[in-house]
Amino acid sequence: MTPLDETHDPDRKSWVPGADAHPHFPIQNLPFGIFAPPGGIPRPGIAIGDHILDLRAVRHALGPQAERALAPATGEGLNDFLAQGAAARRAVRHAVATLLTRGNPAEHHAAQILHPAAGCTLHLPATIGDYTDFYAGLHHATAVGKLFRPDNPLLPNYKHIPIGYHGRASSVVVSGTPVRRPAGQQKRPDSPAPDFAPSQRLDYELELAIWIGPGNELGHPIPIEEAAAHIAGYALLNDWSARDLQAWEYQPLGPFLAKSFATALSPWIITPEALAPFHAPQPPRPASDPHPLPYLWNDSDQQTGALALRLQTWLRTKTLENPLQLAESHATDLYWTPAQLIAHHTSNGCNLRPGDLLGTGTISGPAPNQAGSLLELTQGGKNPLSLPNGETRRFLEDGDEIALLAFAERAGFATIGFGECAGVVEAPQERVLS
Ligand code: CA
Repeated sequence: MTPLDETHDPDRKSWVPGADAHPHFPIQNLPFGIFAPPGGIPRPGIAIGDHILDLRAVRHALGPQAERALAPATGEGLNDFLAQGAAARRAVRHAVATLLTRGNPAEHHAAQILHPAAGCTLHLPATIGDYTDFYAGLHHATAVGKLFRPDNPLLPNYKHIPIGYHGRASSVVVSGTPVRRPAGQQKRPDSPAPDFAPSQRLDYELELAIWIGPGNELGHPIPIEEAAAHIAGYALLNDWSARDLQAWEYQPLGPFLAKSFATALSPWIITPEALAPFHAPQPPRPASDPHPLPYLWNDSDQQTGALALRLQTWLRTKTLENPLQLAESHATDLYWTPAQLIAHHTSNGCNLRPGDLLGTGTISGPAPNQAGSLLELTQGGKNPLSLPNGETRRFLEDGDEIALLAFAERAGFATIGFGECAGVVEAPQERVLS
């Protein structure tokens, strides 16, 4: 497990205005990303308060170890930086924490090395070779299963094997990218044949994303006790989903066009180092649950491999005065740890590469109002949500915006956040409407 050190000191203050006690990016967080300042080209950066530190501009001031670690980080993506693993991340984290601490002379060069985040364009932090989506949210799997099989919601494999499928990397977009309502083939219950139309059951899914660091050679599984070393960091992921397309297409091979039109990702890689104080035990399995096979089990992973994160979904509409919180859940609502997902993914020899992306699956809490999707919150559209201004929602309407948030909190440590994963639903292409 990642050790605690002076970079986690809650009393460490930064000279960057607004950074101390910033809800997402105080000096204890220091997440990596790719950004472009106004009129500039994309480059690696670190979020600090409401600013972004330009790593290209400061790399020579960070000392030889951090400078060497940053050499492979380019505006094209952080893949080669992530491939180096924890030592490189830690070298940069320590050097940047020192640089940004109150009293450091770097403050006199603030204009050259800091950019106000509001004026910058954020990009995906790495080129995603492959994207896999799991289904590890126990309460989501149970609630969705209940819609179809009230007496037997979980299929017999669920508690033995982390369920997943290979997603689409080309349509993973950074937070802020609007999502155009997809059209597709759908078969209405009262219609004898399918038609092709804009989705009427557009939904979101609140998930955690896992960025892969070093990865493995083809044919060489990652043992579970080594899996954590391959996690480069975390982000928030919205697995936009068209439920009407999904219902018609998913059997027998699983989701396809109902998911591949867009997957949104928060722009900052929250590192395992930043999250070191927020590791938690995996909630114990009920005695009646099967014990996982040995390749999925590691005592130390069970003791510290989960993350204590508070996850939130917010809705903004064209007419709502204030954003409305739809739900809150916790990363400990996952049935499998990130290490178990990685051990399982590579157990057949499949190779994970630097910059690959894993989604955990929708994270819902046990209560109905803690659900990470509208499918659950409205029971498949049967019980619409009532909004404070009198509107209702079964599924998303054009102009609706979904924003996902995550916070890591623990007494004695500075709270850190993930930044937002947000996107507005746009009307479908007119060609489809006619
Ligand atoms: Ca999903």
